[in-house]
Amino acid sequence: DDPETLNAFAAPGGYIFVYTGLIKFLEEKDDFVGVMGHEMAHADLRHSTQQLTQQYGVATLLSLLLGQDQELLTNVLGSLLGLKFSRDDESQADQFSVIYLCETEYAANGAASFFQKLIDQGSANPPQFLSTHPNPDNRVEAINMEAEERMCDTAFDSDAQAWMAFQNSLP
Ligand SMILES: [Zn+2]
Repeated sequence: DDPETLNAFAAPGGYIFVYTGLIKFLEEKDDFVGVMGHEMAHADLRHSTQQLTQQYGVATLLSLLLGQDQELLTNVLGSLLGLKFSRDDESQADQFSVIYLCETEYAANGAASFFQKLIDQGSANPPQFLSTHPNPDNRVEAINMEAEERMCDTAFDSDAQAWMAFQNSLP
């Protein structure tokens, strides 16, 4: 619950967290679905787990599960919020968001419109999403191409009522 933070992240174990700020920033349901697809891919492909394992080592993470080390827990949670994924991880997560969404009723390229919005917003006030995710340059094009090659539906839901009601229900 932080209306000022434009971010989302995937934690080991398949948990995905989206800040209320990001939900309020996304104008359409399909934008949100695109971000969800992207974060699901990070979780599904175990990008977060790999990053944390690289940073702390398996032994340390196991001791976290078994012990009561509050300081270690705080450190690992802090790292989770600041995880920086490689360009390859990001491209893969973008690609898989299209693959997942292609089978659903939602627009397959919702992640592209999200990145387009970040680009349109300009660099004067870079959203936090970009501090943990590399620059959106070329990603919009790659996502749209993936959707086109797979012949996915890219039409956004024209009925914005339910999405707006959800946004307005947030604190
Ligand atoms: Zn990402």
